[in-house]
Amino acid sequence: MPEQSSDIGALVRGIRTAVSPFRSVLRELHGSYSSVSDGTVADYIPELAGADPAWFGIAAAGAADGQLFEAGHSGLEFTIQSIAKPFVFGLALEDNGRENVAERVGVEPTGDAFNSIIKLDEGSHRPHNPMVNAGAIATAALLKGDTQVARLNRLLDMFGRYIGRRPKVDVAVFASERHTGHRNRAIAHLLLNFGMLPPNVEEVLDLYFQACSVLVTARDLAMMAATLANGGVNPLTGERALQARYVQDVLSVMYTCGMYDYAGQWAYEVGLPAKSGVAGGVITVVPGRMGMAVFSPPLDSHGNSVRGVAVCRELSRRFGLHCFSSAPAADGAQLPWPAPGAATSPQPA
Ligand code: GLN
Repeated sequence: MPEQSSDIGALVRGIRTAVSPFRSVLRELHGSYSSVSDGTVADYIPELAGADPAWFGIAAAGAADGQLFEAGHSGLEFTIQSIAKPFVFGLALEDNGRENVAERVGVEPTGDAFNSIIKLDEGSHRPHNPMVNAGAIATAALLKGDTQVARLNRLLDMFGRYIGRRPKVDVAVFASERHTGHRNRAIAHLLLNFGMLPPNVEEVLDLYFQACSVLVTARDLAMMAATLANGGVNPLTGERALQARYVQDVLSVMYTCGMYDYAGQWAYEVGLPAKSGVAGGVITVVPGRMGMAVFSPPLDSHGNSVRGVAVCRELSRRFGLHCFSSAPAADGAQLPWPAPGAATSPQPA
């Protein structure tokens, strides 16, 4: 009886979560970083300005089992904003293939702010990468669907496969950004001028704004990150959200470009693919092991969540998660999920 076995699975996961030391670590970090009061809530999208700077949630999900660990406001909904970008890029790759996408958007970090308007590749006029607004707008234009509604439905279906439920768009945030997004509109028209966007600029922008206005929780984002960590398959539903061959493309641009003009420092210190959004979300992927997400609205000067960066940095350091780390975690700290291929008992020579 599948229902009964899934109930038992949920019960076992619940018990393991309750007794896990990892849950205590997340609660401890939540407690210690709650007092950080640096950063400012984004207000250039008027509807975001009402966010409470005290909101703070952390969630982590296992890549193999979807087991969830949470602390604080992990069930509070907020808009995904730029964290949509890698997922939209993944769908564009599936819809068009790598070569066609590469004609419209590159994979080079810019070292510029997320909303930089000036930097298009001089020769090709392509935006540098799909993680900055120019690249994400170009990527949104590549999504297949006969009508605007069909494209939006495909976008929401795609998010639904990662999350395990179809999300909604926050219409107030969408309208707010649509009304005030002059800079993104200027970027889009510059792309149109160079023949990098089709003439239906307003439709493309709407789809981009709608993607940014998708409502998620830290819990949802952790599951989305865990799905990427699990080779594109949602660990709880077993549904494939992204074709396996494109997972490395998405993770690569997240690694090099996901944190905007902080991407180099992030790669150096945290050493994991990540993406942030101006509503205060940050996701980080530990390939083969887990996805994590932090939600805390106050942002630093790069547009990244202050507490989100701090928590991810601390988790990476404590558990030795940097992708180039060859030393074990200092105090032997272990994630609840072993590293892929890690020996659990001594191997024969
Ligand atoms: N919707 C936002 C914008 O286009 C996304 C930016 C972000 O999250 N960094 O400005």
